[in-house]
This record gives sequence, C-alpha cells and structure tokens, in this order.
Amino acid sequence: MPELPEVETVRRSLELHLVGQVVRAVHAQPVALRRPLEPALLTAALTKQSVLSARRRGKYLLADLGSGDRLFVHLGMTGRLTVCSPEAALAPHTHLRLGLENGRELRFIDPRRFGFVTILDRGAEDRDPSLARLGMEPLSPAFPDRLPQLVRPRSAPVKSLLLDQSLVAGVGNIYAAESLWRAGIHPARKGRCISVPRLEALGRHLQAVLGEAIEMGGTTVRDFATPEGGSGYFAIQLAVYGRAGQGCQRCGAKLKSRPIGGRATVWCGRCQR
Ligand SMILES: [Zn+2]
Repeated sequence: MPELPEVETVRRSLELHLVGQVVRAVHAQPVALRRPLEPALLTAALTKQSVLSARRRGKYLLADLGSGDRLFVHLGMTGRLTVCSPEAALAPHTHLRLGLENGRELRFIDPRRFGFVTILDRGAEDRDPSLARLGMEPLSPAFPDRLPQLVRPRSAPVKSLLLDQSLVAGVGNIYAAESLWRAGIHPARKGRCISVPRLEALGRHLQAVLGEAIEMGGTTVRDFATPEGGSGYFAIQLAVYGRAGQGCQRCGAKLKSRPIGGRATVWCGRCQR
C-alpha cells in the first residue's frame, strides 16, 4: 500500500507533469472504486480546465483547477498514476485517462479498486469526510513542537497515537516503528507518560525517516509506479520493521514483536523505554 512518502513522490511527479497543463479530453469508465468513478462529473469538471497546483493532505492528493474545483485522488492499496504517450499500451484496470495539452496522457490504474478519483467543489475540501478528520501533517515545520500537545493528553500507546489519522495525517506502520526505535521510545508507552523533550525528538525522528524515504523515491510496492513510469523504491535502512527476532542495530539485543493497537509491532526491549 502506498505510504506517505510514495504519495509525496507522486505529488512531486504531478507537479512536474500535470501542473501548468490544460485537460483536453477525458476518457473514463463508470466503475465502483472506493468512491464511484463518474465519467459525466469528471468530463464536465475537467475538460478545458488548467491545473494550477498539486497538493498532498495525508495520503490524499488534490489538484487545484482553474475553475476553483479540485481533482481529488486517493491511491488506496493498488492505485497508481502514470503520465505517458496516448499510444502507450493500456494497462489492465485503467479506469481514467486525461488527455493533456502537451499531447501526453495522465492515467489512473487501480486493480483492487480501493482508490478513487473524484471532484470536490470549491469549498467542499474542508467538509469532505476523508479530509476533515485528518490531523496534523507530520512534515509541517511546526510538527515536532506540536507533537507533545497531541500525545500527552492521551493514555493510549504512543504507537497507536502516531497511527491515529485524526491526530497525525498519513503515518503508517513502517514509519511509526522506525521513528520510535530512533527516538528510543517503547511503542506501548502511554502518551501521557512520555516527556515533552522525548516527544519533540520523536517528531524530529519521524520527519527525518519520512524525508529519507521521500528522497529515495518511496517504498518499493509491487503496484506502485511514479507518473514517469519508474518504480518507487525504499532504500532507507529499516531498523525494526519486518526484523522481529533479529539483532537490534544499536545494542544487539533480539528485537521483540507483538501486536499493539491491533498492528504488528517490532521494537528493541533494551534500548526502547
Ligand atoms: Zn537495542
């Protein structure tokens, strides 16, 4: 499943390949994605519209159109966007093609159909049920200073709090586990039992691990490709995620594992407190 770094990689690719373009043609099939793909809505809202910007909120993508509407995309589990020649072979499960002014085509492909592409009216962004509940952006500069205010009023395990989308937008299991290991914080420690300086450090570690993954182009996911057509990949060294039973890279102790908040969790019992 695309994680925040992959979605950010897609956003950067859209900024290169979509922003500044005008949509000339819309080819869509009605299909039951997580939100139904509506050809008439997409055609009316997108045709002849210029694309002004490409933004990300959590794991959602938003493109501002000249009309004030937004193109609203979620990649779900297997969704991907590619920009290619209109002559390029159609991949199976291509649900939407947008012909662009520069002669290229933006395609949305989603075999498992947990993603969506739809339109938000001007002003609807703040009311959308998926967007309205999202918490703070972990990559915002103020995030490390704000993290204690989000975590310390709560008694849930800190890892569950990092994964709570209403507190922190877009963080998945990999990045929660890695940032807690880097910060030396036990994933089951209650939010209210962690000092402000340790939580500020956790916020900085989370930003660093996300930033490293973004720089590398995102996690390798079988069904993910950047719009240029290349595969995303995850080249940062994972210290704990997927390494249960192996040695801690910091102290050598055998890494422990158990579900926390219903999610598989790996940590070092010696250097995470
Ligand atoms: Zn250790």
